[in-house]
Amino acid sequence: MSTPGRSDQRSPARRVPRTDAVLAAEELAGPQQRLGSPLVKEAVVAAQQRVRAGEVAPEDVVAEVLAALPGSASSLRPVLNATGVLLHTNLGRAALSRAAVEALAAAAGTTDVELDLSTGARGRRGRDAMAALAAAVPDAGGVHVVNNGAAALALAATALAAGREVVVSRGEMVEIGDGFRLPDLITSTGARLREVGTTNRTAPADYADALGPETGMVLKVHPSNFVVQGFTADVDVAGLSRVVDDAAERLGRRVPVVVDTGSGLLAPHPLLPGEPDAASALRAGADLVTSSGDKLLGGPQAGLLLGRAELVGQLRRHPLARAMRVDKLVLAALEATLRGPAAPVRAALETPVEQVRARAEAVAAALVAEGHDARVVASDAAVGGGGAPGLALPSAAVSLPAGAAAALRAGSPPVVARVEAGRCLLDLRSLAPEDDDALRAAVLRALRAGAPSPGAEG
Ligand SMILES: *Cc1c(COP(=O)(O)O)cnc(C)c1O
Repeated sequence: MSTPGRSDQRSPARRVPRTDAVLAAEELAGPQQRLGSPLVKEAVVAAQQRVRAGEVAPEDVVAEVLAALPGSASSLRPVLNATGVLLHTNLGRAALSRAAVEALAAAAGTTDVELDLSTGARGRRGRDAMAALAAAVPDAGGVHVVNNGAAALALAATALAAGREVVVSRGEMVEIGDGFRLPDLITSTGARLREVGTTNRTAPADYADALGPETGMVLKVHPSNFVVQGFTADVDVAGLSRVVDDAAERLGRRVPVVVDTGSGLLAPHPLLPGEPDAASALRAGADLVTSSGDKLLGGPQAGLLLGRAELVGQLRRHPLARAMRVDKLVLAALEATLRGPAAPVRAALETPVEQVRARAEAVAAALVAEGHDARVVASDAAVGGGGAPGLALPSAAVSLPAGAAAALRAGSPPVVARVEAGRCLLDLRSLAPEDDDALRAAVLRALRAGAPSPGAEG
């Protein structure tokens, strides 16, 4: 707080405008309405501190506040993803399509998510999103959606195997990222792990030998962020289906085969030959498929359960399902992703490399015209985020001095690049083409402000 009695003495830095006077400025009325008073007040207090420190002239306080105000009441900042990693976990993985963003905004108020408007009676929650998902995967007799891929797997393990065994290959006991270890998730549900085979090789007989009265389910997990090469063998979904069929007579039931495909790919994709998809797994005999609703599907964070109708129904009615229920925003964005135009991740994946290179050339030319050290280089982009491990996507990048990376991250909007072999690479494949202008402007601003010294990036 300023103290009016003293504020006009000594240096100009001490003439700190009063908080209420600044807040009453006409220019700040709109922001206070949009962002709420506390956020604006925070910015005023920060600006007053800069006046005290002599960094801002007292008459510039309102301009300083306006410049410092966040774009929204959330402090999550939109960033430009020039890493070349299409699904970057630290950047929130999949970017939603415009159609999904609009659907999400439209659903944000009160909606008919659980009401049948024609009868006025209660309707099935998210009926249309479920119908869109069922239409996208005709091989699934039943579909359900929960909060994320991990929740889908936890629900399956709980409902099918709590107090019993989950048979899984030692080669598929994976850590997905951020310390999420699949074996820990499974055992947290009260199911016991029955590990079979070895890290590099697992055979049908390994599964067959483990099946017994205690078996709740057989699980196949896609090792979505690494590849094992060399002397390896695993059992595909069709093979697992044969194993449980062969054991059915002995056990008096067919043990369900659950496949965690991870990536949200619903059908095979020609550019991703090694990536498992839901339709193929179901056709090969999987009883249930779990996956993320974002990643390669490009929707909101969600967990998909696809499979035999009675099995999915059993999961949907399980008490734990209520604790994993998705909200109307997710349902709206998921439906729009499934019905609407291709998600940005799909466009990024499918763009021919010549187009990516032409965009990189245009950005580089604008930087060179301003005297910057920029050139276009070939680059390997990646799917990332738990999909298509080891697959290099041919791409093109604008190469800058390595020191630019920190300045770019500090810019507005922040640009996240990749530092490789002593250069800062702006890979255009992970950036939507409509963001090219924003990228060029942000880079020019950041390079002007940052005056990078090569090699300064830590
Ligand atoms: C990503 C992934 C998960 C977890 O999905 P979330 O949506 O992040 O919870 C589970 N299993 C596999 C194989 C994955 O790739």
